[in-house]
Amino acid sequence: MRPYITGIHHITAIAGNAQQNIDFYTGILGLRLVKKTINFDAPDVYHFYFGDELGRPGTVFTTFPFTGARKGTKGTGEVTYTAFSVGISSLDFWKHRLKKFGFTVSDVLTRFGDSLIRFEDHDGMGIELIANDRDDRPGWTYGQIPLEYSIKGFYGATLNLRAKELTEQLLTRHMDYRFIGQEGERYRYGTEGKPGDIVDIVIDKSGIRGVQSAGTVHHIAFRTADTQSQLAIQEILMRNGYQVTEVRDRNYFKSIYFREPGGVLFEIATDEPGFAIDEDEAHLGQLLKLPEWAEPSRKRIEAALVPVSLNPENYA
Ligand code: ZN
Repeated sequence: MRPYITGIHHITAIAGNAQQNIDFYTGILGLRLVKKTINFDAPDVYHFYFGDELGRPGTVFTTFPFTGARKGTKGTGEVTYTAFSVGISSLDFWKHRLKKFGFTVSDVLTRFGDSLIRFEDHDGMGIELIANDRDDRPGWTYGQIPLEYSIKGFYGATLNLRAKELTEQLLTRHMDYRFIGQEGERYRYGTEGKPGDIVDIVIDKSGIRGVQSAGTVHHIAFRTADTQSQLAIQEILMRNGYQVTEVRDRNYFKSIYFREPGGVLFEIATDEPGFAIDEDEAHLGQLLKLPEWAEPSRKRIEAALVPVSLNPENYA
């Protein structure tokens, strides 16, 4: 039963230094580290998942940190900005907080009636905080950020593309998205049009293709309820000519992948089973969790990873 797609599930980026990455997303932005595992396709690299208390779909920003990785560049064929949703009167708090920790923050911008600020993390990853009063998700904080200012989850993502037509067709014909509006070269789409499901296409006709490395998004995952709806959307996409992978088991969800016509890697991930499958909710993210097939190599994997720690108290 449609809709098969109900918004953004997670967004995954490439990072540089692992500790700096944890400190930024947990300490400075106040997201919860809900899972510390490895890149299932490259087991000598961490995979961090940051989100709300439980890592609910629509809140989860994930990273593959490669120590010493060169910085990538923003360009076409990429998600250039990941936008998080915050409460309506929290931008002054965030401007002050980010400046306090040495980050350069844009002036307050306006887009489709919402106020936002824009900045980059240590690796150059583009982030926006969009203030709005349409988000009833509770948010989460380690205590260093007042709950009223905390990040509630994604607002949306910006895809930088040379042309929009084929991507728009994919979103609106096959992925349950609809066109919401246009502002200049920015075209907005949503499943319901709520924070957590927004996709903006910004057209950059003469743009240079982005280079994927530290500080760039690796892929954007859209959410689907379960394996049944995932197989249904997989079938629809394949029937319409998209080269979709087989279903891959990511432990916390199941995934299929394909490249959209503008060059961005899309994933469709199930809402089930979630992050409490291999550790209890109170202790999410504390231990290095490995998929079953990697457990026999735990010693070797742990030895190859740089130890990291969680220090939100350093970012009061
Ligand atoms: Zn993913």
